[in-house]
Amino acid sequence: MSEVNSLSTVTLENAGQPEQVSKLIPLALAVDIGGSKMAVGLVNRRGDILDREIARTDKDKNANDLFEILAVLIKRQFARAEERHGGKVVVVGIGSAGPIETDCATVSPLNIPAWRRFPMREAVQDLVNVPVFGDLDAKAFALAEGWLGAAKGESNFIGMVVSTGVGGGIVLDGRMLDGASGNAGHIGHVIVNPDGHRCVCGARGCLEAEASGTAIEMITGRPATEPSYEIMQRTGRMVGIAVASMCNFFDLNLAVVGGSVALGFGPTFFAAAQEVIDEHCRLSFSQGARIVPARLGDQSPIIGAAAVGWRGLNRQNSADS
Ligand SMILES: [Zn+2]
Repeated sequence: MSEVNSLSTVTLENAGQPEQVSKLIPLALAVDIGGSKMAVGLVNRRGDILDREIARTDKDKNANDLFEILAVLIKRQFARAEERHGGKVVVVGIGSAGPIETDCATVSPLNIPAWRRFPMREAVQDLVNVPVFGDLDAKAFALAEGWLGAAKGESNFIGMVVSTGVGGGIVLDGRMLDGASGNAGHIGHVIVNPDGHRCVCGARGCLEAEASGTAIEMITGRPATEPSYEIMQRTGRMVGIAVASMCNFFDLNLAVVGGSVALGFGPTFFAAAQEVIDEHCRLSFSQGARIVPARLGDQSPIIGAAAVGWRGLNRQNSADS
């Protein structure tokens, strides 16, 4: 079974203390670090969210004060697992805005200037006595959609978030691709318009520089929440170009797209993207590739962070055995 489809199959024995855990439901403590807010929740092996708390990422706080806010949520949710939910936290999963270093060894979320190479994994590990795993938020999103969302049961797909920025994660042969530094799937910096706009990364015409909320605001002078019909179509076409290349390159037939820009632009965006994909995916294996909206909505960051935790635990256990 693929690692994504098997996220629900973590056994009680995997938790390390079978005699103690057997009476309690094993839970993942999920930590979602976004640009404007942080969320911590409890998720069971089926992907049900049992509890969730949210805090804003206050831009005036320094690195340690900001972590202290997160630490309070983590400690409280950890205690609530047993007090309120008859469970026990057996793993922590972190999904963080990037860039990150492998496993969230450090995180430097672009929208949280206080955290630059902040040692997130170690800081969280100091609070808990269970394994801690971390990954990019966009990869966590792809894991979540593959586990319970629009790519459920699929072994080959790309999951994408088109919002303030553009990120993604690729699941191939049932495994999430990590790459040398854990950043595989960074579709935001695939070139879709060689003579296009300058990207924050320094290149020109990256998908992120053409289709992200930030880029749309720069190009049109209006927030991405007030799009014209043309800009919704154009954004869809840009995403379609990148997705079609991924489908041809990786032998994929499915792209699941979430994020406020994609979902906000809705059917106009998806129809324009699909039209480009139909034009560009002409190979026998890529013909018929589909682009569809994500299904998990605002639950995907927490479910995705939990999936990062369960996946880490599964891998650790299969490596041990
Ligand atoms: Zn770029």
